[in-house]
Amino acid sequence: MTDQAVLVSYDEAISRYEPVIGLETHVELGTVTKMFCGSPAEFGADPNAAVCPVCLGLPGSLPVVNRAAIEYAIRIGLALNCSIASWCRFARKNYFYPDMPKNFQISQYDEPLCTDGWLDVMVDEAQVRVGIERVHLEEDTGKSLHVGGATGRIRGAEYSLEDYNRAGIPLVEVVTKPIPGTGALAPAVARAYVTELRDLLRALDVSDVRMEEGSLRCDVNTSLAPRGSGTWGIRTETKNVNSLRSVERAVRFEIERQAAVLDGGGRVVQETRHFQEESGTTTPGRSKEEAQDYRYFPEPDLVPVAPSRAWVEELRATLPELPSARRARLQAEWGLSDLDMTALRNAGALDLVAATVAAGAQPDQARNWWLGELSRRANESGTELAALPVTPAQVARVSELVASGQLNDRLARLVLDGVLAGEGSPDEIVAARGLAVVSDDTALLAAVDQAIAANPQIADKVRAGKTAAAGALVGAVMTETGGRADAARARELILQRLTS
Ligand SMILES: [Zn+2]
Repeated sequence: MTDQAVLVSYDEAISRYEPVIGLETHVELGTVTKMFCGSPAEFGADPNAAVCPVCLGLPGSLPVVNRAAIEYAIRIGLALNCSIASWCRFARKNYFYPDMPKNFQISQYDEPLCTDGWLDVMVDEAQVRVGIERVHLEEDTGKSLHVGGATGRIRGAEYSLEDYNRAGIPLVEVVTKPIPGTGALAPAVARAYVTELRDLLRALDVSDVRMEEGSLRCDVNTSLAPRGSGTWGIRTETKNVNSLRSVERAVRFEIERQAAVLDGGGRVVQETRHFQEESGTTTPGRSKEEAQDYRYFPEPDLVPVAPSRAWVEELRATLPELPSARRARLQAEWGLSDLDMTALRNAGALDLVAATVAAGAQPDQARNWWLGELSRRANESGTELAALPVTPAQVARVSELVASGQLNDRLARLVLDGVLAGEGSPDEIVAARGLAVVSDDTALLAAVDQAIAANPQIADKVRAGKTAAAGALVGAVMTETGGRADAARARELILQRLTS
């Protein structure tokens, strides 16, 4: 059908159809050991070095639940305003896959640990409440490497290698309720939700939440129904989307694609799909209409999980300040507008500004440096703001030198050039490059006299009372001093010379 050619624009699609989205996010927990054994859960060990009889599924081995993983999952559930089950069980999800040595995955099915919560997200200055259906625990699978084929897929490969280091790594899956009523904002809401969830998980310190490394990955559900029909359409599930931008693009593309299918009198097929980074499109995967039966049943080798209310309350008391509360507090402390805060977040500059303010800078100055000059530098060099080789403390020092009049804006930018080039601290660069503002009257007066002598007509205007003309003379003084003059003092001296 219309998988390749999308014939409906986004605006047209939204004018006729109402999207409903939903997100399932897999989060790799940062525990020391795996979910059901004592093997290390670290990244980057030699293949099959971080394994033991349990995660290799050897006969006779028995799993034991990792208490830290339960604790992390409960903290996530609490931060998402969920109810925490007082008793729940793990379940076996049965299917065969070479990278899953037990031939079943231990997961949670109809008895998840956390249920029925919510997370508020901001989109276009409006708050959207995203319902959380469940938060449950499961184990990751291993990794297959298909060797010898052109595509790296199993088809055409000569042989496959299995690495079971990942098998048994604890995962939390956070599933939203369907999110209706977002209209044209559906892709932005999906992105804002994953962003907020990522920030929340980072604040909880339960995962390193690196989307590009797969420690946070998203399945994005999208369906369309004709506007006003009061029904929901058939949904597709785009699997393993691994960047915030891709989450947004995947929803947008599915809305356009499904609208084209429906416009053509077709029927959206319930299926999993794959997002293609290069083209920004999705392609069909497995059809859910022939979905396999996983024959779930309660895991007989594990005791039920029954967190006491006292423990849950203890964990609730350890929750850190959550990102939304922190943003509200910082905004009030800094006196910045909603727009400023959104810009800071979008630029990934919130923590940088917070650290710069903590190092002594005025909030508006810290904001200006990171969103202005430093964002421009990051763009030019194609890096993230946080990856620039300048620390918040250095930015605070530059800001302080400007505030005290020792640097003007132009000189401050030169000092930053030096810092970014690895020449040392701001003070070292000011000294080494001779960048301090010249405010010493003796040095300034020489430049002032020279400027007056070189511009007699302008000087006459100032003498005649047109003090605004002094600006041109200040400009001449700046040229004379290589931009290092204290402009305010230069102006005072010019007026003294010409009008008194
Ligand atoms: Zn193990």
